[in-house]
Amino acid sequence: MQCIFIGVGEAFDERHPNTSLLARAGGAGMLLDCGFTAAAAYFRHAPEPDSLRAVYISHFHGDHFCGLPYLLARFKEEGRTRPLAVIGRRDIQGKVERLLKLSYRSVLETPSFRLDFHEAGSETALDVAGFRLRFAPSAHSQPCLAVRVEADGASLFYSGDGRPTAETLALAQSAGLVAHEAYHLDRDVPGHGTVDGALDFARQADAQAVALVHIERGLRRNGRERILNRMERAGDLRALLPVSGDTVDIP
Ligand SMILES: [Zn+2]
Ligand SMILES: [Zn+2]
Repeated sequence: MQCIFIGVGEAFDERHPNTSLLARAGGAGMLLDCGFTAAAAYFRHAPEPDSLRAVYISHFHGDHFCGLPYLLARFKEEGRTRPLAVIGRRDIQGKVERLLKLSYRSVLETPSFRLDFHEAGSETALDVAGFRLRFAPSAHSQPCLAVRVEADGASLFYSGDGRPTAETLALAQSAGLVAHEAYHLDRDVPGHGTVDGALDFARQADAQAVALVHIERGLRRNGRERILNRMERAGDLRALLPVSGDTVDIP
């Protein structure tokens, strides 16, 4: 399995598209989150945009969800016919349909391709397009589900937004790659993770590598050295600070 970092930014970073990951296996793609600035970056960095088979939405903040009108309307405009699975928390279908009604009604009213909705929950395991998905709640300002994606014997954990919980730690066990939000450096503030916390989390999960994403824009701009210092102290753990377009092969 391959992971392409479509975006690595937080909500309002003007330089880095919203955090969004593309998992690829067996010629199929699964997009993890699609925020308002991630959708354009998807078409910039996805090797074969039309090979996308599914989109997972971790929660309904705009920087994770509001790129869907762009993505779906562009697919329709380009004549897509292959169905697309859309996976997310309770009421994913209702929320996506409301968003489309307000923006591009024609995607719903005269569709060129079918949307297949799947509701995710902590007790759910889903098999979609050759990927197995499982979920666990993080600690964020609105309910958010971290996800574990498995294909070809490889595993990718993505936190979505929020601090780690016992459930997300269990979900991330022995993952080939943990992509964790690290909004703050070390300030323990409710609702978001930290660089230190993400490194500790990956170590505790016995992951093979960790990628830090969704870093607060001021910290990313002015605190790069401090972040790299923390990463150097991660010991045997492979720690990455990816940018848009970076690709990681997950063993
Ligand atoms: Zn966010
Ligand atoms: Zn959020």
